[in-house]
Amino acid sequence: MNGGGNMEIKNSSYITTADIGDVCPLFYKDFILDGEISSANLEITALGVYEASLNGSRVGDFIMAPGWTAYNKRLQVQSYDVTTLIKKENRLCVTVGRGWFRSPMPGWEKMEGDKKRRYEQPCGLIAALILVFADGRKQIIRTDESWQVKESPIRFSEIYDGEIYDGTFMADRSRPAENLIWSKDILIPQEGEIVKEIEAIDACSIIRTPAGETVVDFGQEVTGYVRFTVNARCGDKVRFLHGEVLDKDGNFYNANYRSAKAEVQYICKDGEQTRNPRLTFFGFRYIKLESWPGIPRKEDFKAIVVHSELHRTAYVETGFEPLNKLVSNVFWGQRDNYLDVPTDCPQRDERMGWTGDAEVFTKAASYNYDILKFMTKWLHDLAADQRPDGEVGQIIPDIIPHGHSSAAWGDAAVICPWQLYQTYGDKSILQQQFNSMKAWVDYITNTTPTPGLWTDHFHFGDWLALDAPEGDRRGASRVDLVATAYYANSTELLAKTGELLGNDMEEYWKLHSRIKTEFRKVFPVYITQTEHVLALQFNLASEPEKTARDLAELVIKDGVQLRTGFTGTPYLLHVLSSYGYTDLAWKLLLRREYPSWLYSVDCGATTIWEHWDGIKQDGSFWSTSMNSFNHYAYGAVIDWIYEKAAGISHTDDHAGFTELLFQPHPCKEIGWLKVQFESRQGQILSYWKHEKDDTFTVMLETPVEAKVILPSGTRKVKAGKHTFIEQYK
Ligand code: BGC
Repeated sequence: MNGGGNMEIKNSSYITTADIGDVCPLFYKDFILDGEISSANLEITALGVYEASLNGSRVGDFIMAPGWTAYNKRLQVQSYDVTTLIKKENRLCVTVGRGWFRSPMPGWEKMEGDKKRRYEQPCGLIAALILVFADGRKQIIRTDESWQVKESPIRFSEIYDGEIYDGTFMADRSRPAENLIWSKDILIPQEGEIVKEIEAIDACSIIRTPAGETVVDFGQEVTGYVRFTVNARCGDKVRFLHGEVLDKDGNFYNANYRSAKAEVQYICKDGEQTRNPRLTFFGFRYIKLESWPGIPRKEDFKAIVVHSELHRTAYVETGFEPLNKLVSNVFWGQRDNYLDVPTDCPQRDERMGWTGDAEVFTKAASYNYDILKFMTKWLHDLAADQRPDGEVGQIIPDIIPHGHSSAAWGDAAVICPWQLYQTYGDKSILQQQFNSMKAWVDYITNTTPTPGLWTDHFHFGDWLALDAPEGDRRGASRVDLVATAYYANSTELLAKTGELLGNDMEEYWKLHSRIKTEFRKVFPVYITQTEHVLALQFNLASEPEKTARDLAELVIKDGVQLRTGFTGTPYLLHVLSSYGYTDLAWKLLLRREYPSWLYSVDCGATTIWEHWDGIKQDGSFWSTSMNSFNHYAYGAVIDWIYEKAAGISHTDDHAGFTELLFQPHPCKEIGWLKVQFESRQGQILSYWKHEKDDTFTVMLETPVEAKVILPSGTRKVKAGKHTFIEQYK
């Protein structure tokens, strides 16, 4: 696919068709060429999701194009080189599904109005095919009322409910497409990574469950769809449902998808046929066959993994298998939730760009993969959807514009660009987002009734923390403390950003010190683990050493167990390590019993769970109301593995790893750890191994000068390979 270029498409018209109901319309245009072509380029986008073909061949490999943006303000245009597909007589076809644009968002009762509005949005298509002849002539085929439209075999397609395809359907009637008046100012060249089929996974078994169901297991929870091959007679039906886990009796379970039907139906034609849904996706490990002609065989099914195309930049391996599995689950969690926007989960009736989830996971994500382009597009949507007073919605693209922002969620506006700068050292993301970052901090300052504190506002608090009563979602940490701590952090990051960009940020430094003073005055003591963690992480505690000691004691008193939720968890191990409690951090990470990261691994998880107790110790589930098994937020712990366990970070003022800070924290219990991280400066390798008694070996490969901190002392080393034999402290 090409870059987007000159946007000839802006001179075309949107076309639509009325009254097509649930069926995905197929728009087409026939044209004959009277000369040899030297190039053909298709610029195209849709209100909905589209799949285009030219003379029967699919155009490009972008799945769910044009992706999901703040549609009222930004609609990405794709540009494809189709020169090799052009013939003398041509047919250009485009099928348009509901996608995100016309999704009714089932299950969100309180949002009846929005639901209806989205469902009733028109279907639309706009395109320009730019043909250049060998003799230099130019011809442009544009969408207009000369296009035809007919019903396609895709009888229904939507991101939550799935897809219905009728292989026997023959459209008997075409009619002219209608003109649609829609803004062309929203058209922008493709900005994000494209979404592709990345991998195909074979089914590992077909299970007959105790309840008598036929279930196909792919052994891994993925996002994408199932490609199946079936030998059938005309009219035979294939029907299946998707699920993430089996229940404690081994039966199929998908009550946690809530109102998302996640169902595929296919009406067969005669003979052997291979198919997959085309304009939707699912999060699943299992499918339950409700209807299948004949006897299903493992080899009839493949799970097609679909997500944004990202370059993997980190590899982690350790001498402890459960930890390796946790790492694998974190990577899968990211892959499954980086489908054009960073989502909370890929399966139930959400799959949305929840700002808090994206915020807590951005650091980890930025080590795992190169996410600069992916996140830049999303942050542009965040800025585009930011409200006039600077408030940032809970979800970006902001499909619930009346929903309140929350601390830690809206702070994505500041934390994400800052983190991208830290990892990649590219200031342009700060330049692009600076106004949005500032608007967010100003929004808090201008709306809080208590200067220096953020109070009297809705917040998610320490979402899903374990220290609240069973079933309570907001944890026991005081929401005003959490909110004020994030307010301080965002103000500090904004002030640093402004200075890096050459602005005078005096006013924000003053604001920061006021917030710090008020925080200390109003919250002199910390009660929960998360309250301690945030006070330390954001440098707000007046006696940090004592606060860290209190935190360590609290964790031990709690049975060497974490009690933290979305806001405390990503920082918990970091602050313990920063204040000398790395042994305790390791104990939390390596703990197998509930609650812990490895508890889910021991329960057979292949991705990260939304709840520490998604599956309880008695095998029962947390309530169906909100229980995803593919929520990456707690997977943020992997950034502690990179920065503290492997010791790979950068010194202050050396964003983008232009100078390495290398301070590994070995652990006897796991034997060894090896991390490779491809920074923008080149490959960094950290390897350590427990030898005998009190000795360990450390190897470092660095592309830049490094400050090395080891028990034997601190030193600077040059780029290259270095080995150290060290005694534990
Ligand atoms: C989502 C979360 C999100 C939250 C808001 C949930 O339904 O799945 O991950 O951040 O709502 O608290």
